[in-house]
Amino acid sequence: MNNPKRVLLLGAGGMGMAPLALYLHGAGVQVEAYDDRFREPLRSHLQSAGIDVLSESTPLNKPDCVIRSSAIPLNNKGVQGWVAQNIPVYQRGEFLARFTVKKKFLAVVGSHGKTSTTGMLCWALDQVGFQFSYLVGGMFTDNQLPSGRYVKESWVICEVDESDGTIDYFTPSVTLALNCDWDHVDQYDSKDSMGETFRTLFSRTTSSIITPTNSELSEWAKLENESLLSTFDLKSEPSAFLENNIAAVVAAGKVLEVDLSTLDYSKFPGIERRQSILHQSPTRTIVEDYAHHPTEINAFLSRRRLVLPQHSLQVVFQPHRFSRTQALAQNFAEELSQADDLHLLPTYAAFEEFDPAGSVESLVGYLPPRLREHTNIFSDFTQLCDELGPTPLENKKDQILFVGAGDLEKWAHGFSAWEKAKGNKLDAFSYYLEKKLSKSTILRSYEPLANKTTIGVGGSARWYAEPAHSEDLRSLVEACKLFNIPRAMMGRGSNLIVPDDGFGGLVLRLRGKFWKEITFRAEESLVVGAGARLNEICSFACLNGLKGFEFLEGIPGTLGGALRMNAGAMGWETFDLVEWVSFLLPDGSIREILGTDLNVGYRYCREAFDGIALRAKLKSEGKSDHRAIRKAIEKLAKRRRSSQPREASAGCIFRNPEDVSAGFLIEDSGLKGEREGGAVISNQHANFILNQGGATADEVISLIQRVRARIKESKGLILEPEVTLMGKSWNEYLS
Ligand code: FAD
Repeated sequence: MNNPKRVLLLGAGGMGMAPLALYLHGAGVQVEAYDDRFREPLRSHLQSAGIDVLSESTPLNKPDCVIRSSAIPLNNKGVQGWVAQNIPVYQRGEFLARFTVKKKFLAVVGSHGKTSTTGMLCWALDQVGFQFSYLVGGMFTDNQLPSGRYVKESWVICEVDESDGTIDYFTPSVTLALNCDWDHVDQYDSKDSMGETFRTLFSRTTSSIITPTNSELSEWAKLENESLLSTFDLKSEPSAFLENNIAAVVAAGKVLEVDLSTLDYSKFPGIERRQSILHQSPTRTIVEDYAHHPTEINAFLSRRRLVLPQHSLQVVFQPHRFSRTQALAQNFAEELSQADDLHLLPTYAAFEEFDPAGSVESLVGYLPPRLREHTNIFSDFTQLCDELGPTPLENKKDQILFVGAGDLEKWAHGFSAWEKAKGNKLDAFSYYLEKKLSKSTILRSYEPLANKTTIGVGGSARWYAEPAHSEDLRSLVEACKLFNIPRAMMGRGSNLIVPDDGFGGLVLRLRGKFWKEITFRAEESLVVGAGARLNEICSFACLNGLKGFEFLEGIPGTLGGALRMNAGAMGWETFDLVEWVSFLLPDGSIREILGTDLNVGYRYCREAFDGIALRAKLKSEGKSDHRAIRKAIEKLAKRRRSSQPREASAGCIFRNPEDVSAGFLIEDSGLKGEREGGAVISNQHANFILNQGGATADEVISLIQRVRARIKESKGLILEPEVTLMGKSWNEYLS
């Protein structure tokens, strides 16, 4: 493989790929990184390091090669697109092995503790001023060191993962092997086959093999190449793993000819999700750990018991992968029996198909009766919070341990936010989001909304956010789901009435550069962010000589609102333009859906009710001279000016019944000019209600009720509102 100049990383938000992005960027490679599930603060770290973080999987430039995370299979549609273009696609491990083949490479391997040991080794080497490159599969808790770094002509320190089989590509100078327990049962059918992988790695190692003294690893190393072997002593009790990590680190230091034995390891900041203390008070401690194998669970629980012997041990466990849970169910149950109380979450699939044989229920039968009778399985976070209960009093201390490698990180952080807010669900939501959002995202409490709508009525939002990008939007949406908090979208607020009592949940508004982007595509189309104003799209298209966007002039909304409402004017509708829309769906996934596959009708798009429109590709009717387009726009604007009032309103209040306009029916029923407080039916366009100063939402709504009743009475027709009511259904108000 020739060293590439430009690479595309797919799945770059994972902790295998992100350090690789940093390492390659440091090596002078132009890196474009894509993930549909990026998280903060990782995304910001990559961006501030100078890496191009993409919002779409299509890079700005054609890459020399594509590197995919093991979580993205080769048959993935996006990956196959690159294969079809003859762009080489590598799995992360394979690429890294090839890229570093000529470098002095220290590989940290083993079934458990690779990330903690590699992190500690890198921290220690950094402390003594050793110059080296590294990749660590986790983030340092104090963020002082990045998770990946490149230093020219130096050693590369890296954990090498056996789970996806790419370990077979590596030929390290030094191998530091920590342990070998049967795991990754989809890849290895027995402990022997896993051991064989480590043995063959030893046979390829060129200068040193470091293993625990008198272990099976040292025996295998002797068989392969005894002259390279050096060892370190391990304490046998499982709770001694920190001491054992230090022993391994010091032994690696010796091989690198650096003395790491005198450092104060209590200053090691630790790696996130590795025994991280999330909250501590005199009576309650909350700890999170990535343990997902019985051996790791035993080590973690027995250590916590030693650290706080007076605290009851409350364990929240989420099994990781159906295959592992099925194969090791009895061992899991045995180790989890150390808990005083056990709380289970459903098995985290990690890309596996659902398999009942590996579901969390399969563990319960192996638990001792003491636990079996009281252990519940939770899929609702607030129920778990209720079960774990409020902070215990003086004489009843506890430590709550969140254990697993899946997504229980959300639950752990959610619960510690809950604890910090002293069980107050409302503030826990803000605490939880504090560290999950990038700095440029706005999150406020009790935000007035009237000034954000065109009609200018209504109360405040309990929470209000302007996410800086899709990942923060997703974090906000996920937090709502976790805490059971309702959410509502708001665009320009030009077809929206906010009730006077406001909205008790989170209001989301897509404002700022990221959401307003309009880019020109070769096929005479535009890709437009959902926060772009319709008149900006119209002007951009005109400037670029693209026909078909003229009707957007004068509709005062954003693209997001126009997609949800299928806004239209003068015979055209928004969906006449749409090729595809990218949505954030309620399950947290982002999907591009073709316009032809969407359920769209007069003033609605069903997918935008639950989903959030993020951006869309809009196709033109072809090219034309921009002066001709401008003329057409001016003609439409003139018509609009003559027919629509300019005062504060929410646009058309009612949908047009079939074959007749709502405005005509209202005018014909003599309702023009009728008033309720500051709210008045427009004399110019009877389907508009104007706020002539100081109107309330209640006044607007009672005028709507009056119009509806009068039309029913005079015309025998029921008018349905077009305008949306934030957080409420019109059924509550209209009989
Ligand atoms: P908002 O009013 O803020 O929201 C409308 C709905 O869309 C809400 O339910 C909201 O939750 C949802 N929403 C907002 N963003 C998103 C998103 N990203 N994803 C999913 N849902 C979202 N309409 C016409 O069709 N034709 C007209 O000619 C017209 N003329 C108007 C003239 C005036 C003076 C006014 C005040 C309004 C007019 N309208 C018209 C109504 C309005 O401008 C459109 O419906 C517009 O598309 C609404 O966009 P918005 O950004 O203001 O959405």
